[in-house]
Amino acid sequence: MKDCIFCTIVAKKIPNYTVYEDSHVLAFLDIHPRAKGHTVLIPKVHAETIFDLNEEIAKSLLPAVERTADRIEHVLSPDGYNIGWNHGEAGGQEVSHLHIHILPRWHGDGGTNIHGIVNHPGEMSVEEVGALFS
Ligand code: AMP
Ligand code: ZN
Repeated sequence: MKDCIFCTIVAKKIPNYTVYEDSHVLAFLDIHPRAKGHTVLIPKVHAETIFDLNEEIAKSLLPAVERTADRIEHVLSPDGYNIGWNHGEAGGQEVSHLHIHILPRWHGDGGTNIHGIVNHPGEMSVEEVGALFS
């Protein structure tokens, strides 16, 4: 998609440090790393969110995450990872081309975990929210 920075990277019009690539995805080092080896993995086709991606490519993402983490594992040997993505403006997504962050973690790196993202459960009890799904 024109004007999309990640489509421009896929088109090789701007350089990247590739960690993993196959026919559906490209994983490359984040330009503003929050950890050594911070990687973003993207589908090569433009899709703003997971809801906009066709099922075949969506299904290819998890195996690609595993292969990307395997590369990082062999090169950097981190102690752990946080893996996930910011979905939509409210979720903190800045680049509107779906990208999965793979953050290598080390003991004592001072970071937090997924529970540190938000702490605003609202007024409803878990039981009340559960009832909405029944
Ligand atoms: P998000 O807030 O989830 O949309 O994150 C977008 C990420 O893309 C940020 O971590 C940026 O540092 C990263 N990013 C933006 N432009 C580039 C680029 N040209 N190469 C690598 N990473 C980039
Ligand atoms: Zn794009």
